[in-house]
Amino acid sequence: MQKNPPTLDELVSLTKRRGFVFQTSSIYGGLANSYDYGPLGVELMRNIKNLWWKAFIQQREDMVGIDSQILLHPKTWVASGHTTAFNDPLVEDLVTQKRFRADHLIQEWQEKNNKTSEKSPEEMSVEDMGKYISANKIMSPDNNTVSAPKVFNLLFETSIGSVAGEKSVVYLRGETAQGIFTNFTNITNSTRIQLPFGVGQIGKSFRNEVTTGQFVFRTLEFEQAEIEYFFDPEVTDWQKLLEDWKQAMWNFVTQTLGVREENLRWRKHTDTERSHYSKDTYDLDYKFPFGWKELWGIAYRTDYDLKQHQTLSGENLEATDLENRRFIPHVIEPAVGLNRVFMMVLTEHFWEDAERSRTVLSLPQQLAPNTVAVFPLARNKPELVAVAKEIYVKLAQEVPTAWDDRSNIGKRYLYQDEAGTPFCVTVDYQTIEDQTVTIRNRDTTEQIRIASSEILEYLKKNS
Ligand code: ATP
Repeated sequence: MQKNPPTLDELVSLTKRRGFVFQTSSIYGGLANSYDYGPLGVELMRNIKNLWWKAFIQQREDMVGIDSQILLHPKTWVASGHTTAFNDPLVEDLVTQKRFRADHLIQEWQEKNNKTSEKSPEEMSVEDMGKYISANKIMSPDNNTVSAPKVFNLLFETSIGSVAGEKSVVYLRGETAQGIFTNFTNITNSTRIQLPFGVGQIGKSFRNEVTTGQFVFRTLEFEQAEIEYFFDPEVTDWQKLLEDWKQAMWNFVTQTLGVREENLRWRKHTDTERSHYSKDTYDLDYKFPFGWKELWGIAYRTDYDLKQHQTLSGENLEATDLENRRFIPHVIEPAVGLNRVFMMVLTEHFWEDAERSRTVLSLPQQLAPNTVAVFPLARNKPELVAVAKEIYVKLAQEVPTAWDDRSNIGKRYLYQDEAGTPFCVTVDYQTIEDQTVTIRNRDTTEQIRIASSEILEYLKKNS
C-alpha cells in the first residue's frame, strides 16, 4: 500500500472534519498555538499515553511512576535554572511588533535560499544570530525589517494566595522533570527500588511559544512524558545507558507505533545548542509535514538538577552505595511531547487511497480510537437494529466500539476509514437466519462473513 505523507493542510482538515483536533476557542477566533482534542482525538491521545506508560513504567522492574503538580515551589525553577536560562532568542518585526524566533527565521531563510550548508542557527550564539540576520537582510514573514534578537523567558508566570493585596509569584511548570527531582528522596524512602532506576511522569507543561503555524507540534500547553533515569556514574557507564535508552525510544516508535524507519533519524546536539546542564544530547527527529523536526529528546543531565536542589533546599539528596559511599546520582532523561507523537502517528498512517477515492487512517489497532464499528443494514428495520444493538453492547464491554446507523453503508465505511477504525461489522437479514455478520477490513476493504459469536476472537487475531 502506497502511503504519501499528507500536507499540513490535509492533516488539519481531516482532524477537524473527524473530530480529532479543534482550534481552541474557535468561536472567538481561536487562541494562538492552542488546540482542543475532540471525541476521536481524546481517545487517540489516551491510547498513546497508555502505551507509553505500559512500555516504560509497567513493563519494567526498574521504573516507577509519579504525578506531581503543575504549580511547584518557585525556588524549584531558580534551582533548575529555568528562571534565568529557559530562553528563546526573539526578534521583533519593526512595523507590526510581532515577535518571531530568530533561529526559526534563519533556518527558514537558509532552506529557501539553499544555504543549509552554512553554519546552522543551532551553532550560533544570540549575538551571532543578530549578525547573520543583518548581514543577510533576513526579513520577518510580513517582509519587514526585524530588531536584533533578545532572549525571552518561556515560563508562564501566575500568582497564588492574594492576601491583602500581596501576591506570590509561581510558574506553570515548563517541564515535568522538576517534580521528579524534588520527590527523589520521597521515592527512594517509600519504595524498594534501587539504583539504577527511573521515574516517569505524564502531565501538562507550559511554554510561552511565539512560533505559530505548526499545529499541535508546538503549543503553549502540551502533554509531556518524561523519564529521569538515575544511576551511579562510578558503576554504570553513561554512554552505554544512553545507547540503551535510545534503542528503547526507537523500538517504541517503530514497533509499538508502527512508524517507518526511513521517517526517523537521530541528531546530536552541537556544543552551542546543548542546554547548560547537559553533557550529551540527541534528538529523535521525525519527518513532519513541514520537514525534519524534533520528536523526542534524550539528554545526559549529569547530577546538575539534584545538586542544585540540594544546595537551594538544604535537604540531603544523596544516595549511598553498599560501601556507604555517598554521592549524588546522575541522570539520563528521555523527554517527549505526546502531542508531537499524536501528530506523528496521524501523519504516518494517513493514506490517500486514489484507487478507491477515499482517505484512510491506517492506525494500528492499539492506537485506533475505535477497534470496530457496528451497523444495522438499515435504521428503519427494528429487527436488524435490535440484533446489531445486542452485538454492539457485547463488543463494547471488551473493546472500544462505535455505532452508526445514519445514511447508507458506503458513507459509514468512508467515515470509519477516516476515523481509523480497523473493522466494520454489518448486521443484515442473513444475520437473523444464521447468526453471521459481514466484517470489513479498513485497509483492504475486503469483506468476509463470520459468526457473530466469533467477532472478538477475529479482532484479536487480526490486531
Ligand atoms: P524545540 O526545540 O522544538 O522547541 P525543545 O528542545 O525546547 O523543543 P525540550 O526542552 O527538549 O524541547 O523538551 C522535551 C520534549 O518536549 C521535546 O522533545 C518535545 O517533544 C516536547 N515539547 C517541547 N516543547 C513543546 C511544545 N511547545 N509543544 C509540544 N511539545 C513540546
